[in-house]
Amino acid sequence: AEIKELKEMLASRTYPKEVVEKAEQEIARLEKMSPYSAEATVIRTYLDWILNMPWYEETGDNIDILKVREFLDKNHYGLMDVKERILEFLAARKFSENLRAPILCLVGPPGVGKTSLGRSIAESMGRKFGRISLGGMRDEAEIRGHRRTYVGALPGRIIQTIRKLGVKNPVIVLDEVDKMGISFQGDPASALLEVLDPEQNSTFTDHFLELPFDLSKVLFITTANVLYTIPPALLDRMEVIEIAGYTDTEKLHIAKDYILPKLYKEYSLDSKRVSFTTAAIKRIIREYTREAGVRNLDRNLAKVIRRAALRLSEGEKSVKVGAKNLEEFLGIPRFTDSDFRKKPEVGVATGLAWTAVGGEIMYIEVLPVPGGKGKFITTGQLGDVMKESAQIALSLARKLCDNEKYSEFFEKTDFHIHVPEGAVPKDGPSAGITLLTAVTSAVTGRPVRYDVAMTGEITLRGKVLPIGGLKEKLMAAYRAGINKVILPKANKKDLEKVPDEIKKALKFVFVDEVDEALREAL
Ligand code: ATP
Ligand code: MG
Repeated sequence: AEIKELKEMLASRTYPKEVVEKAEQEIARLEKMSPYSAEATVIRTYLDWILNMPWYEETGDNIDILKVREFLDKNHYGLMDVKERILEFLAARKFSENLRAPILCLVGPPGVGKTSLGRSIAESMGRKFGRISLGGMRDEAEIRGHRRTYVGALPGRIIQTIRKLGVKNPVIVLDEVDKMGISFQGDPASALLEVLDPEQNSTFTDHFLELPFDLSKVLFITTANVLYTIPPALLDRMEVIEIAGYTDTEKLHIAKDYILPKLYKEYSLDSKRVSFTTAAIKRIIREYTREAGVRNLDRNLAKVIRRAALRLSEGEKSVKVGAKNLEEFLGIPRFTDSDFRKKPEVGVATGLAWTAVGGEIMYIEVLPVPGGKGKFITTGQLGDVMKESAQIALSLARKLCDNEKYSEFFEKTDFHIHVPEGAVPKDGPSAGITLLTAVTSAVTGRPVRYDVAMTGEITLRGKVLPIGGLKEKLMAAYRAGINKVILPKANKKDLEKVPDEIKKALKFVFVDEVDEALREAL
């Protein structure tokens, strides 16, 4: 009876020739076998997969650019240039079906809306949406599947997702391409390369299916927090769209117009029963979250709403959330301005770092330890490149502080360089100028201004070289209440991408040489 059902199924739909041949072969094998044998189970599972794959099924495309634009605007605040790039990408696809379109890669800190943009793209095109997280993936079989001889074998995640969605042309977001690993079980990145390569992916062969499946109609969108850990061969195939963090004003808009309406709906409440003042939302942004995206903002607003719902169910008529009573809902603020430097100090300089979670303020502390020999030690998990910057900073400081008083100092002192917080690994060359400033201050005893932050790579000749992540870094400076930022002259052109709100709040000093920077900071 089972055999009959299988044969009927095979006859009831149209399958590619290879699938029909393969299925007939396997059904014939199954017929000769005891239905209770382990091998029969394996064959049944296999037939179940190949007969249920959407070999031809697809949803009709409607790339109506005006509609897509409207949809994106409705669901995502701001992100003008990001949306523009997405629309260009879709328009190009619309005009040429066979265009070897590159794969979109949305890069940015957590909670800026990368995954949800992918979902919106799918929805606005009327396509099915799937998501695969690549984070921590180490085994090639997770992409390409296990051979059938393997106990408990299954197809890889790509084929699984497509079967679940039931169409061959879904939008699939591949999250965290920057966090894939390599192990003895193979390199998932190279398997992914085949999936994403338009030359190869029309005949993608999963180890389990053993039959080519056409992935060329799938619209793959990848997301990542950082670019530098993405394997270069993959990065090469991708069209990178960077999403930086949001300013406080943008977050306020997102909270009011997107997050709160969403939460009200989720909890079946409305702004009459639970209301927020603007000041309350601003305080949540500043004192309860300090992030580039809006993930924690979302979480904190949800927490307030849950507490408020409890009060309503205990008999209160309505709940008003203001800046003053916020602590009743969220407890003591996690961040206060006292985390920031408030006065000039000797041996501490304020740097700007660019990490996976966005831009961050970074204090560099230098303590001269008497009885040494001009050597230095570092703590705070500094990477090799950053340690080299420290070495350069020390040599340069020695050259710049070139008079008798100080030369003796260098001969008899070691330098301890520490960058809190110790548990977070830090690397990159862009702290060079900050290291130099902190060392120079420690040597000369001149305090460093507390309201000045800086970033820039330095060379032994005393040049200041450009850095990456300018926008993110400036957002962090702005969040920390910095007044003036010292930047490499070569980064001046990048200022174009920085929101006006931030440009208005900060003064910029562009420098070519380290002396100019020291003059501003000390
Ligand atoms: P991660 O790197 O952690 O995966 P992500 O960038 O994928 O983060 P999402 O999960 O897409 O972030 O977004 C987090 C939340 O923030 C979602 O609820 C999303 O709707 C909201 N959000 C982010 N940006 C915007 C925006 N511009 N407008 C409206 N809502 C936004
Ligand atoms: Mg995401």
